[in-house]
Amino acid sequence: MTTNFDALATRILEGGPDTGATAADALAVLQAPDFELMSIVAAAGRLRREHFGNKVKVNYLVNLKSGLCPENCNYCSQAIGSEAPILKYSWLSKDDAIRQAGAGLKGGASRVCMVSSGRGPSNRDIDKVVEMTEALKDEYDGVEVCACLGLLKDGQAERLKAAGVDAYNHNINTAESNHDNIVQTHTYEDRVDTIGKAKSAGLSPCSGLIAGLGETDEQLVEALFALKELGSDSIPVNFLMPFDGTPYENTWELSPTRCVKILAMARFVCPDKEIRIAGGREMHLRTLQATALHVANSIFLGDYLTSEGQDAKSDLEMMRDNGFVILGQENAFNDGTFDDVFNAPAAGAAHTPAATSPCGSASTGCGTSCGGCAAGLSGEPADDHKPVIRQRGAGTEVPANA
Ligand code: SF4
Repeated sequence: MTTNFDALATRILEGGPDTGATAADALAVLQAPDFELMSIVAAAGRLRREHFGNKVKVNYLVNLKSGLCPENCNYCSQAIGSEAPILKYSWLSKDDAIRQAGAGLKGGASRVCMVSSGRGPSNRDIDKVVEMTEALKDEYDGVEVCACLGLLKDGQAERLKAAGVDAYNHNINTAESNHDNIVQTHTYEDRVDTIGKAKSAGLSPCSGLIAGLGETDEQLVEALFALKELGSDSIPVNFLMPFDGTPYENTWELSPTRCVKILAMARFVCPDKEIRIAGGREMHLRTLQATALHVANSIFLGDYLTSEGQDAKSDLEMMRDNGFVILGQENAFNDGTFDDVFNAPAAGAAHTPAATSPCGSASTGCGTSCGGCAAGLSGEPADDHKPVIRQRGAGTEVPANA
């Protein structure tokens, strides 16, 4: 069956965001042949432009506390049992946290995501985040703060809200029917409970998923509809970064076209929500990163919690070169704000696909073994697509990638 994706977009535009796509529509997007990709992007792009124009929301991660987690989320490089050689450190000082956040804000971010590893925060941890948030808001007018601290106890969300925290991130990660396959130390209900606590306290719920964890198409659809039901305002879509030393080492289930279809499916199901391309953007979307921005409306600038993203200059160039503007800094590409960045040499970061993939091909086999093509679905990709452990920014003396 061929789906008319443009007609689907028209139906959603005429019916309002709450109409969205049905589960069958969502499945049709995921299972469409690759030659329909541009029809899907064009249709989902109509929804993106209706709600977000050509603006990209730029977010910046600050990993306040890295590694040493007692939970066993199998996909996570910070989990107990992970042998990934990540940076491990306890809480950043308030000043250091503000300094790290400031780098991202100067680089174009409007939201700072303050993240700590662990099952959930103690009340003393909440004290620290309260102080950091108050200091950050004092120094940077209009900055949005999202906290991501794990499972919340009663009263903690209210304290964060009172301190000025705007949003709380807690991903459901996968469908309820797949949850126990990816983590055993807490339940899907635990996660939903924390999202509910955040929402009840007036924090904007941010919850998303990780694709590439062995889930079926139907489970991806199940997860998206669960997020819609939960009322997630922003939906980070991560693509599994299979760190060496974790149970998902060498797990490569995704192709660039598959990733774009997942983002498009999210847009059709939740047309007016922030769809954020999150971890794994560079290694999985590769040369389709900019195409994906016609569907999604939000990215992380620079590095991730424990791995390096492409250099921040490449992030900014990608947005500028494709006709997007940064939310909150709509004229920044024309008024010289980033001239220093654009005129500086690249920071030499991890995988800018065009710079590191020998072939630059993202969707068809070309006969090389670079892994930058569909061959990555069945075999181990070349090392230059694997996660590169972050060795700069928070927890180091090296300037951040921002
Ligand atoms: S995802 Fe969070 S809770 Fe799970 S292992 Fe990683 S840091 Fe711990």
